[in-house]
Amino acid sequence: MSNSKVDEDGAIQLLKELIKIDSVNPSLVSGAKGEKEIAEYIASWLKSLGLKIRIDEVAKGRYNTVGILEGTGEGKSLMLNGHTDTVGYDYMTIDPLKPTIKDGKLYGRGSIDMKGGLTASLSAVKAIVDSGTTLKGDLIVAAVCDEEYASIGTEHLMKTTHVDSAIVGEPSDLQILRCHKGFAWVKIETKGIAVHGSLWQSGVDAITKMGKVLNDIAELDKKLKKTYHELTGPASIHSSLIEGGLELSTYPDKCILQAERRLIPGETVKDVENEFKTMLEKIKQLDPKFNAEYEITFHRNPMDVPATSEICKTIIKASEKALGFKPIFIGGSAWLDTQIIWEKGIPAVVYGPSGDGAHAAVEYVDLQTVIDAAKVQEFTIKEFCGVQS
Ligand SMILES: [Zn+2]
Repeated sequence: MSNSKVDEDGAIQLLKELIKIDSVNPSLVSGAKGEKEIAEYIASWLKSLGLKIRIDEVAKGRYNTVGILEGTGEGKSLMLNGHTDTVGYDYMTIDPLKPTIKDGKLYGRGSIDMKGGLTASLSAVKAIVDSGTTLKGDLIVAAVCDEEYASIGTEHLMKTTHVDSAIVGEPSDLQILRCHKGFAWVKIETKGIAVHGSLWQSGVDAITKMGKVLNDIAELDKKLKKTYHELTGPASIHSSLIEGGLELSTYPDKCILQAERRLIPGETVKDVENEFKTMLEKIKQLDPKFNAEYEITFHRNPMDVPATSEICKTIIKASEKALGFKPIFIGGSAWLDTQIIWEKGIPAVVYGPSGDGAHAAVEYVDLQTVIDAAKVQEFTIKEFCGVQS
């Protein structure tokens, strides 16, 4: 279909090597190995291609590898980004660190989330080098740590990285994921008055008061489910954690609820603040003994990269050239690292392979889509960064 220089056997070999390296996130599984070994492996692999390499210790024992293929300085810069950490594997029913191929699928922990996608990006870089192409703009490849927990890898990377666009190689079925939801964590505390269980005249039951909040959250969720976004689906809210009470014969002095609100593109954390402010005020108007506070403890914004952005247009063109079809735009319901890049004003989309079983007992990536994603990224790099003739 095209004159791609992607080394297909080399890509499969690389993916196998990456899966063999245990890189379970130590913030998720205590005592896990983390990203040091895989960061070093990728660094030496990129170094052998002639890239400029940097290994950043983001936090103690946590590493990003950054490779730079310098352009002539006349073109736009592009970053390919992928995370090296995986979730744990104790519950897997396949051998997590021994990659096996069956019916075109490669099985192992991290195969789809996301060593397959990372392999596609690394193979695209290799294809550029192997073809002897001189790029006009810089090409940056970042293998980052900790996406599965707090994204400290991409957070750290974006403090010093300035690029014109980025591709995050998470799985996207060879389609372009250009928007996804955000989320906000809300902590609500109702206050009661702790007295002996017999003293109904003076006791205030903080747990029952929280019941009113729970009811309103259910109502709010119904309302949110009617919101609409063409690619991400509706907004939502659910209760996640609750605690309260002192002992059986005592009125509870407080009840603490933690809820999670999922935001669709166009919404901000301000909307969530307004919802809770209004909710608690309304309950208080009807019940003078109701006394509650809320706090947004953490949030991540939604992402919405325009369909008309250069990176979207370039990937579409590259897919038509490499694979003979025009990818569609998709949206994600989960939050992704892309948003950290997008928040810096850099259009970032997800483009990667197909597979199944992220965080599950059986995980695989469809090998052909790893090769296909590599080819599309190879052509995207050339088109986006420009080629010195
Ligand atoms: Zn992932």
